[in-house]
Amino acid sequence: MEWFVEASNGYGLMIKVKRKLYEHRGLQHIEIYDTEFGKMLVLDGYIQLIERFESAYHEMLTHVPMLTHPNPKKVLIIGGGDGGTAREVLKHEPEEVVMVEIDDNVVKACREHIRIDRGAFDDPRLTLLIEDGIEYIRKSKERFDVIIVDGTDPSPASEPLFSADFFSACAKACGVYAMQSQSPALQESYFRMVLKNTSPFKLRKVYLSYIPMYPGGVWSFLLAGDVNTAVKDIRQRFEERRIETEYYTPEVHTASFVLPKWLECIVREYIENI
Ligand code: SAM
Repeated sequence: MEWFVEASNGYGLMIKVKRKLYEHRGLQHIEIYDTEFGKMLVLDGYIQLIERFESAYHEMLTHVPMLTHPNPKKVLIIGGGDGGTAREVLKHEPEEVVMVEIDDNVVKACREHIRIDRGAFDDPRLTLLIEDGIEYIRKSKERFDVIIVDGTDPSPASEPLFSADFFSACAKACGVYAMQSQSPALQESYFRMVLKNTSPFKLRKVYLSYIPMYPGGVWSFLLAGDVNTAVKDIRQRFEERRIETEYYTPEVHTASFVLPKWLECIVREYIENI
């Protein structure tokens, strides 16, 4: 057995791998491994998901915005080629889900070797478009109840997903918006870029999830738009929609907005009323 090592910013993650199941070099370098913790997807050397831990990412990225919206019928996912976010979105019984993923090979590889979508890619409510999410949002005249951006760490393909132009277009196109906003401890500059560039949204809040598959183990998310929802409404919606989860609960949802002091100080530099 060998170790897979992801190292950047002077910090590393080591995962014991049993064997490599798949590799493809195209738009991105895609690798899939079998590990001590289930299947693992790696893009351009960065771990995207490990089966044992992925619920802490996909459930928090999805259920926090979906339950913030009173009735999310039309949802846009940008990225998310492994199908985990689509799987969670469909639990809310939306009428229509559009997923815009730039790399067809990620979808094909995950459908064949990981299968965490659990049927989401075959669901008739899901329309999968293989194109750049930035181009899609620029030309689309559609309005969505919720937009979720499940993109990679900033790379040549995904960096524009962190730009002011992109956020401004998203703010016009949805009621509630959520994205992953990197590790504030280890990737502070990217986290600050998100806070700086998302100012077109009416309201913004930062929340956290404990995710062992990402560097530092604590990952941040941004929730934006119409996001002033009472805790009792979140709890009621969760019960009414009968969502089954592994990580998410309404209590975790509420607690995830409590930030450590150093992080709250950073967020206050960009958002007055957090
Ligand atoms: N947050 C997870 C992570 O970084 O570990 C994200 C996982 S998901 C696999 C990320 C997906 O975003 C990838 O499949 C990638 O192809 C897609 N992506 C990157 N840039 C994109 C863009 N500009 N438009 C649409 N999809 C994009």
